[in-house]
Amino acid sequence: MLKKALVTGITGQDGAYLAKLLLEQGYEVYGAYRRSASTNLWRLDELGIAEQVRMVSLDLLEFSNILKVLQKIQPDEIYNLAAQSFVGASFEQPLYTAEVDGLAVTRFLECIRLVNPKIRFYQASTSEMFGKVQAIPQTETTPFYPRSPYGVAKLYGHWITVNYRESYDLYACSGILFNHESPLRGLEFVTRKITASFARIKHGQQQTLELGNMDAQRDWGFAGDYVRGMYLMLQQEKPDDYVLATGETFTVRQFVDWAAQAAGMSLEWEGEGEGLHARERSSGKTVVRVNPEFYRPAEVELLVGSPAKAKAQLGWTPEVKVERLVAMMVEADLRRTSKGNLLF
Ligand code: NDP
Ligand code: GDP
Repeated sequence: MLKKALVTGITGQDGAYLAKLLLEQGYEVYGAYRRSASTNLWRLDELGIAEQVRMVSLDLLEFSNILKVLQKIQPDEIYNLAAQSFVGASFEQPLYTAEVDGLAVTRFLECIRLVNPKIRFYQASTSEMFGKVQAIPQTETTPFYPRSPYGVAKLYGHWITVNYRESYDLYACSGILFNHESPLRGLEFVTRKITASFARIKHGQQQTLELGNMDAQRDWGFAGDYVRGMYLMLQQEKPDDYVLATGETFTVRQFVDWAAQAAGMSLEWEGEGEGLHARERSSGKTVVRVNPEFYRPAEVELLVGSPAKAKAQLGWTPEVKVERLVAMMVEADLRRTSKGNLLF
C-alpha cells in the first residue's frame, strides 16, 4: 500500500517543494489548506503538481477539524508546515501567531494520540528560536533566546513536540531550520523582496528598493534542499531534533549586491545608518535606500547554524550555495516580470 503523508501549509513555499519530493518517493500526498474565498495554488502549479496533490480543508485553529481529517485520511506521516511564518507580522498579530504557531502544535499531537499514536510527526521549528544567539554557530544544544512573538510561539511548538515524544513515546521530530529561500519564497521576506525588486527595477517598473536593517546576518539555504532534510527526519529508527543550515552567514547588504549583479547591475554604496543607500553605477540613480519602517522592535542580528548532526545522522548536506540561490531567484523574477506577472 502507498504511504500517506499529510502536509499542512501546502500553499506555502516548503509545502510545495515537500509535496513534490513525497510524490517522487511514491507517497499519496494530502495537502492541507485553510479555506478562503480564493485559494491560490500558484506554487503547486509552478512545480507542476497541483493535480497530483489531494487537497483537504483544514484550519489549525479548529481541533475537531484536525481530528476528523486525521480520522478520515489515516496518514502515516504528518508534516506540520502551516504557520503565521513572517516575523515582522508577528509583532502586529502576537496572539494569532501564538495560536497558529504554538498551540496548534498541541492540537496535532493530541489528535495523533487519539487517532493513531504510530503516526510520525514533523514540526517546522526555526532558527528564530535562537534569537539573541548564545553561541556561534548554533546547534541542537544551544540555549534559546527568541526575539519576536514568532520565535516565542515556535519555541512552544518545539518544546511541546519534544515533550510529547518523551511523555507518550510518539515519533515526533522538531526540525530547527535556518532561513531557506527559493523562487517560491513569499514576497514579504527580505530575499524575495530584493530579487523581485531588482527584476522590476531592471524592467523599469520600480524606482527604488527600501529596506530595514541591512547589517543583519543570515544563514541562507535553498528550500529544495531543506525539505529533503524534513523527509529524512521521519525515516529514521528513532525520532530526534535536528538543525538544518549551511554553516555560512552573510549580511542582507551582501545579498543585495549579489542580486543586483545577477540582474546585471553594479552598486556603489554611500552613507551609513538611516542614510545608507546604493546608486547604480551606470545611471547614477539611487536604487536602494533605508526605510526605518522596516526596522523591527527587536532584531535577530546574526544566525549561523551547524548542520553537523544532520550530516552525521541523516546524511544530509545542502547542495545549493547562496550565490547560486540568489541567481536562481533573480532569474525567475526577471522571467516573471518580463511576462508582466509578479503578483505572487
Ligand atoms: P509560507 O509562509 O510560505 O507558508 C505558510 C503556510 O501556512 C501557508 O500555506 C499558509 O496558508 C499556511 N497557514 C497559515 N496560517 C494557517 C492557518 N491558520 N491554518 C492553516 N494554514 C495556515 O512558509 P514556508 O513554507 O517558508 O515555511 C514553512 C514552515 O517552516 C512554517 O511553519 C515556517 O514558520 C517554518 N520555517 C520556515 C523557514 C524559512 O526560512 N522558510 C525557516 C524556519 C522555519 P495561506 O497560503 O492560506 O496563507
Ligand atoms: P527572518 O529571518 O525570518 O526574519 O526573515 P526575513 O527575510 O523576514 O528577514 C531577514 C532579515 O532581514 C531580518 O534581520 C530583517 O530585519 C532584515 N530586513 C531588512 N530589511 C528588510 C525588509 O524590508 N523586509 C524584511 N522582511 N526583512 C528585512
